[in-house]
Amino acid sequence: MAHLYELTAIELARMLRKKETSSVQITESLLNRIDSVEPNIRAYVDVTRETALEMASEADRRLASGDVRPLTGIPILIKNNMCFRGHRTTCGSRILANFVPPYDATVVTRIKEEGMVILGTANMDEFAMGSSTETSYWGPTRNPWNLDTTPGGSSGGSAAAVAACIATVSLGSDTGGSIRLPASFCGVVGMKPTYGSVSRYGLVAYASSLDQIGPFARDTADLALLLNLICGHDPKDSTSVPRPHPDFTTYLDKPVAGMTLGVPTEFFSKLENPDVSKACAEARSIFERLGVKFTELSLPHLDYGIAAYYIIAPSEASSNLARYDGVKYGHRAEKFDSMIDMYCQTRAEGFGAEVKRRIMLGTYALSSGYYDAYYLKAAKVRTLITNDFKTAFRTCDAIFCPTAPSPPFRIGEKIDDPIQMYLTDVFTIPVNMAGLPGISVPAGLSGDRLPVGFQLVAPHFEEARLVQLAAAFQKETDHHLQRPSL
Ligand code: GLN
Repeated sequence: MAHLYELTAIELARMLRKKETSSVQITESLLNRIDSVEPNIRAYVDVTRETALEMASEADRRLASGDVRPLTGIPILIKNNMCFRGHRTTCGSRILANFVPPYDATVVTRIKEEGMVILGTANMDEFAMGSSTETSYWGPTRNPWNLDTTPGGSSGGSAAAVAACIATVSLGSDTGGSIRLPASFCGVVGMKPTYGSVSRYGLVAYASSLDQIGPFARDTADLALLLNLICGHDPKDSTSVPRPHPDFTTYLDKPVAGMTLGVPTEFFSKLENPDVSKACAEARSIFERLGVKFTELSLPHLDYGIAAYYIIAPSEASSNLARYDGVKYGHRAEKFDSMIDMYCQTRAEGFGAEVKRRIMLGTYALSSGYYDAYYLKAAKVRTLITNDFKTAFRTCDAIFCPTAPSPPFRIGEKIDDPIQMYLTDVFTIPVNMAGLPGISVPAGLSGDRLPVGFQLVAPHFEEARLVQLAAAFQKETDHHLQRPSL
């Protein structure tokens, strides 16, 4: 018989309703699993064991009284940049190592209202800046498929935990690919919803015009359920869009025949990795078997995506991270000569190298005399990229492309070469620039038995279409059922 920790949220919810198990039993199964495999993976910053067991007991009370919602009693892991009242929210940074928020992020409030069980907080690149979860102050997370490789980033802990069955589902955040890349590297499903569809209230800001929270799951059905929970308007986030969303689970069984997927020639001409090419070709033929048509199209400004992103994201970061000054909260240097020196020492000690690089890049790009040449230009490029997608969606329902240019790379391989690290996001960044929803779906294993994913991108607020396509694909394949041996 399968262990409780291996089951999907939907399977567990069914058992809870039939009283075949309890939320406490499920939570204990996961906590035991965490004890045995987490030391090798390090997907967690903190396992919030006592809180989890309390939440599970509360969920069992609700289940007994009939006050049940779809995910009541189901365990979840949240990325360590979402405020979790009473628990340190470090963002993978020394500067916030002791920060315990006095309030919950809106997604956390929703999780609590649903009666889900928060197992702990997930490791991440410092301030979500990175593609490998190696820049965390707490050390790297390892990919459960091969402990010498990275799980991708920045939401590497959230993805690795779901892949290793030390969390049933999880939440991450995606500014330039931080959900989709780790989903691809860990062989799980991950979605970045449309900008504005999930509240960012209580999400520690990296680049506010790009950041978006989204779900990870082992299959699309679980992902749809979690999406139902987190999507929706929030008056506490001024960029949250007041717009009702459909019940995403009603799209799990809709046929996809007659739909058209666009294939951007620029994406595929850049693709050199044979494992990724092969996985994409196989995925394409499965969709074709399902009656999906493919059409070639062009996104001509794609090439400028990374360059423009590395002006816009660091500019916003340099402004957002100015608040960490050692005065209000977080780390403060012990030795200093003056107030200015206190700021300088605190920030020098508190931030890691990559975060400092971004602050310098952004401050430079925004400085007087350079704003027009850099920031304004990048903002214009962003509009061109958005228009490319708009044009593309005239001829297709969604775009089909790789999630990442390669399977997972080795720990240490790119950490000293920022440009190589940045290039990992070549297929995901344009989607954030345009604010579109994107999903990464497991597409099989490489020759070295490492996961590969493909990406689908839909027009604004068409997450349901992504759920529909991904679910149809998963009915035809067993890629999402493969598990790493640990
Ligand atoms: N790797 C990209 C960066 O470092 C994207 C990270 C993210 O999506 N948070 O900025």
